[in-house]
Amino acid sequence: MPKIGVLALQGDVSEHVDALQRIGEGIDVLEVRKPGQIASCSALVLPGGESTTIVQQLNSSGLAGELEAAATTGLPILATCAGLVLISREIEGDNHVQPLGLMDIKISRNAFGPQRESFEADLDVEDMDRPYRAVFIRAPVVSEVGRDVQVLAKVGGLPVAVREKNLLGLAFHPELTDDMRFHQLFLKMLEA
Ligand code: GLN
Repeated sequence: MPKIGVLALQGDVSEHVDALQRIGEGIDVLEVRKPGQIASCSALVLPGGESTTIVQQLNSSGLAGELEAAATTGLPILATCAGLVLISREIEGDNHVQPLGLMDIKISRNAFGPQRESFEADLDVEDMDRPYRAVFIRAPVVSEVGRDVQVLAKVGGLPVAVREKNLLGLAFHPELTDDMRFHQLFLKMLEA
């Protein structure tokens, strides 16, 4: 039975736990708060929330190093919204967050501006046969991708769903809708 960790330092943790329990019977979900817990997981979710706070907590809890080590040794990771900010290599024009540099992408935080802080959009997604309706909440966009990063979907010409090896990054919130296709993709990465 795979155990999937959800980083539970801040943000929409319970929504992710619920979503994982909805997709897979027999998935064991662990809320990760302490050093030592990541090592027992077969995959990890980094939820949305406030990336400045999550980074601070990652550093003070001692989890940052374990997360980096697990990501580099191939642990499948689903990083959503603030989680996507965390895994980037660089954040444009913003020194409030020191990202972990796990994925070769540059991020622009809160990229859709105050008047469209939250919105929904139908995305055309690589390898999905019908549009995916995505919920964006003070969302980032990916402003630059490295050579090995696969872009799965865009909004306004900019990537909002990206994949690089064991890392799947989404600027939106797949845990807030009933369409579980991104979770299913994540589970496939776990089986691979
Ligand atoms: N704007 C937030 C940040 O940069 C992310 C918002 C979210 O996760 N919904 O931390």
